Amino acid sequence: MVTQVERDDTTWHTCETCGLMFDNEIEAEQHEERCESSDADYIQ
Ligand SMILES: [Zn+2]
Repeated sequence: MVTQVERDDTTWHTCETCGLMFDNEIEAEQHEERCESSDADYIQ
């Protein structure tokens, strides 16, 4: 899930899976999709 955080007059979009922050909501959502699916690959 992507969460929004306001800091320094900028809204950041944080990937809850790994904690990465993006200033672009679309990038954050695209990252999150890959992040979650790659996470699933690691768990065996
Ligand atoms: Zn992530």
